Amino acid sequence: MRLVLLGAPGSGKGTQAAQIVSRLNIAHLSTGEMLRASVASKSAVGCGVDAIMQRGELVSDDIVVGIVAERLQRDDIKAGYILDGFPRTVAQAVALDQALADRGENLHAAVELKVVAHDLVHRIMARAAQAKANGENERADDNPETFTLRLQAYETQTAPLVDYYRSKNILKSVDGMQPAGAVAAAIRDAIGA
Ligand code: AMP
Repeated sequence: MRLVLLGAPGSGKGTQAAQIVSRLNIAHLSTGEMLRASVASKSAVGCGVDAIMQRGELVSDDIVVGIVAERLQRDDIKAGYILDGFPRTVAQAVALDQALADRGENLHAAVELKVVAHDLVHRIMARAAQAKANGENERADDNPETFTLRLQAYETQTAPLVDYYRSKNILKSVDGMQPAGAVAAAIRDAIGA
């Protein structure tokens, strides 16, 4: 099964993606994680995107599409995958469709986690506090100032993907305001797996 997970920052994409991958035994492809790994390893890409990510802006389509194209060459995606945080622009979605078409494949569903914007900043702050309590590194972009920009980037550049996937008849919208277990159950119903 090949899935896309759409949702504003703080909507619970990471939590839900983790549940889906362990249940369906498919790969978790998070572009945010891949980019953070590039930053941590100080690779050429990482050095180029660090400041952009810290500002809460989107990394260029070329870079992200390149990273995903490379990731889709690996063998561990054969059983399927969930794309978490990609695509984030219509241009990325078109590039993904093209990459899939070249392989004779398609997406089974694009799952949208619907949440109310004013609750999101609380969720992000809770995530930062939890990371700190667990002794993990906090994300450099989990703060209220950057969050506002990330939300704006979502609303202007990523939200149009909801219509994009609706027009392709693969959009599954789920109420992301419920407790995590209920969201997971709703996703299961929506994708039928
Ligand atoms: P995330 O972990 O998905 O919230 O992503 C963290 C940050 O990585 C975003 O705010 C962007 O700066 C960058 N990023 C992740 N995925 C993408 C993408 N598909 N397109 C552009 N930038 C991305």
